[in-house]
Amino acid sequence: MFELVFLGTSASAPSIRRGLSSLVVMHDEYRFMVDCGEGTQRQILRSGVGFKRLNHILLTHGHLDHILGLAGLLSTFMRWEAIEEVNIYGTQHTLDRVHDLLYGVVLRGQEPGMPLNLIEVRPGPIFRTNKFEIRAFPVDHRGSSSLGYVFEEFPHRPFLTDAAERLDIPPGPWRKDLVQGKEITLQDGRVISPDMVLGEARPGTKLSVVGDVGKPFKLIDYVRDSDAIVTEATYLTEELDMAEKFGHSTAEQSAQLAKQANAKMLILNHVSRRYRDDAILAEAQAIFPNTHLAADFDTFQIKARED
Ligand SMILES: [Zn+2]
Ligand SMILES: [Zn+2]
Repeated sequence: MFELVFLGTSASAPSIRRGLSSLVVMHDEYRFMVDCGEGTQRQILRSGVGFKRLNHILLTHGHLDHILGLAGLLSTFMRWEAIEEVNIYGTQHTLDRVHDLLYGVVLRGQEPGMPLNLIEVRPGPIFRTNKFEIRAFPVDHRGSSSLGYVFEEFPHRPFLTDAAERLDIPPGPWRKDLVQGKEITLQDGRVISPDMVLGEARPGTKLSVVGDVGKPFKLIDYVRDSDAIVTEATYLTEELDMAEKFGHSTAEQSAQLAKQANAKMLILNHVSRRYRDDAILAEAQAIFPNTHLAADFDTFQIKARED
C-alpha cells in the first residue's frame, strides 16, 4: 500500500485554496516528495507530514511552479540537523535549473552542510527496496524533458496461517524464514518448504504519478493497470487549443488515459482557478467515473486491486 498526501494542487500560480505542485508518496518508512513548488515548506507543516525522512525529492520537470520551493526547503534543512542527506532526482535538463537555484542563489559558495545529491534520472528503474521499486518514464510537456514516476510493489505470496497451524509450525523465526522463501527444518526433523504455507502470488500496488503532460495518450503503456494514476487537468475541453499550445491535458484527456490504461482510480491535480472544481470533475467522470479531484492536504491510501 502507498499513501499519498497532496501538498499543492494548483497550476502555474497559487490560488487562495491551492498551493503549487507538490505531493508526498509514503511506503513504510520511505517518503518521496514529487515536485516542490513555492510554498511547499509551509504546506508540509500544515499537512502534518513533517520534515523527517523527507530526503528523496523526485522532480517531474524544471518549470518554476514545480521547483521554486526547493530553495526554501534546502535552507531549512541546512539549519536542521536531523536530515542526513538530500537526494534530488530529475533529468539533466531539470537538474541544471535546480543547480542554478540551489548553488547560485541559496548556497553561493557556502557548503550545504550535508550531502546534497543531484541525481540524473533516465527512463527506467531508479530506486528499489525489497518491497517496491520506482521507475521513471518519459513525458511530453513543451520540450521540458519531463518524467513521470511509477511506484510499484513487487508481487507477493501471502502467508497462509491456517496451513501453518495445520502443519504445527510455531510462530516466530521459522515462519519468518518461510515468508522470505527459505526452506526450514523444524525441531522434530520435518522439512517445510515455502510452497506448503504460501498462497498464490498477488500483484503489488501500482501508483503512477505524472506531472504536467501534453499528449497523455502516449503514456498508456507506462501506467497500464495502475491502482491509481495522479495526473493533471489544467484545462477543460472547451480550451483544448490552449491545452495543446502549452503542452497540458484536459480533464477529458486525463480520464481517457485512465480508461484506456485500465486504471482503478484517477486523481486529478494541477488545476486552474479559471474553472470550478465540479466542472473539472464532471468532464472527467463522464468518461472515467472513479475520478477524484485532489485538494491540498487530501490523503489517499492506494491499495492493490482485489481481482
Ligand atoms: Zn506546472
Ligand atoms: Zn510545466
